Amino acid sequence: MKKYIVIGAGMAGLATARLLREKGNEVVVYERNGRPGGMIRCDVVEGCLFHRTGGHVFNTKRQDVMDWFWKHFDREKEFTRTLRNSAVIFDEALTVPYPVENHMYCFDAETQKAFIRDLLHMAGVRKEPQNFEEFLKGRFGETLYGLYFQPYNYKVWRRDLSRVPLSWLEGKLPMPTVEEMIYNNMNHVEERQFVHSSFYYPVRGGSQFLADRLSEGLAIRYDTPVHSIERENGRLSVNGEACDQVVFCGNVKKLPELFRMDSFVKEIAALEAHGTTSVFCEIDSNPYSWVYMPSRRHDAHRVICTGNFSANNNAGSKMTGTVEFTDYLSKEEILDHLGRVSFHPKYLTHHYEEYTYPIQDRGTRDMIAALKARLAEDGIYLVGRFAEWEYCNMDVAIGSALDFVNKQP
Ligand SMILES: Cc1cc2nc3c(=O)[nH]c(=O)nc-3n(C[C@H](O)[C@H](O)[C@H](O)COP(=O)(O)OP(=O)(O)OC[C@H]3O[C@@H](n4cnc5c(N)ncnc54)[C@H](O)[C@@H]3O)c2cc1C
Repeated sequence: MKKYIVIGAGMAGLATARLLREKGNEVVVYERNGRPGGMIRCDVVEGCLFHRTGGHVFNTKRQDVMDWFWKHFDREKEFTRTLRNSAVIFDEALTVPYPVENHMYCFDAETQKAFIRDLLHMAGVRKEPQNFEEFLKGRFGETLYGLYFQPYNYKVWRRDLSRVPLSWLEGKLPMPTVEEMIYNNMNHVEERQFVHSSFYYPVRGGSQFLADRLSEGLAIRYDTPVHSIERENGRLSVNGEACDQVVFCGNVKKLPELFRMDSFVKEIAALEAHGTTSVFCEIDSNPYSWVYMPSRRHDAHRVICTGNFSANNNAGSKMTGTVEFTDYLSKEEILDHLGRVSFHPKYLTHHYEEYTYPIQDRGTRDMIAALKARLAEDGIYLVGRFAEWEYCNMDVAIGSALDFVNKQP
């Protein structure tokens, strides 16, 4: 039996701690907040459920993650399973089902003809894209790029899309061929193949319910930020508490402040990320789960209609959802933009999370792999979204915890 200290009670830390304990180890979790969840924490505002970041739903392609997850919950009684119903709102007059490339017949004749010309051109081109812009233009054509992919993704990434690397894309966007796009448009095929085309969602409590359940029975020291990790005489300690191994599930950018490092400091400091301003609002009733907004009239890129995920997320006759903006906005800026967003959002509250989207460049994965190998020599391991600097969902964070614990003796 070994003693592990896990830093962070987000999804990655909770999964790691449970898995290590299931293997018979002693595990202590340090969490700087007063409750578990990290990015999946929710608040109750005027009786309605506010996901402080995003609007977390669960699904996974990994069977071991699925099996582990459902060991902790009653799928039938505690969850709903919902088919994703997303749309792209171009303006008041044009709402197109998602994914937009399968529904080009919804556009006017000129746009349709331009898209057909793009398809004919794309069918003859075989070029490996080097960045996100080349990928989007090569895969969906110039017309859709200008109408949707460029303005939408610019709002999300806040940078020239030719500077966005391709590594984050794996498995995250549908990758239809020209033939599939023509077939789907001719037959009005609803897309069912993309990631999260259906999802599980708690009947009550949203993602906070997941964190609360997974934290049960664990030894978690809440309100206890870790300020030092030390290695002396072959023994590790965290805030002075001795242990055999440390699993760091916080933000790797903060690691050099906690642990003396003789290498990688410059590389870690160079890592970039985006934050998200999540604005909780009362919104008009609608049938959608997610709504994407390429409009250049305002900076919000998405409305997550969390009020449609479970009726219990709303109170009385209120329908609620979260309007998302990349990076920080002041309350004045938020109110100004909200006036131009669809569904007449009425502001209830907002939260800014500084680290939500890690940005990878070509060398990031190799650098993190080398860093992990170096830290492992000292008995320190990295697991989680900002620990590993990976654009990963909850299921991938759980998968990373599983992979780590499976490798432990
Ligand atoms: C906008 C958005 C929408 C998303 N939607 C979905 C979705 O629908 N479905 C899905 O599966 N995934 C979704 N995700 C991804 C999901 O949020 C993450 O995969 C997951 O929450 C990552 O968990 P984590 O434990 O790695 O990190 P975190 O949740 O960030 O947890 C880290 C924890 O470590 C603690 N900590 C950090 N430093 C210290 C320290 N020094 N001392 C003590 N404690 C410390 C923090 O307080 C925190 O609790 C979304 C993400 C975003 C940004």
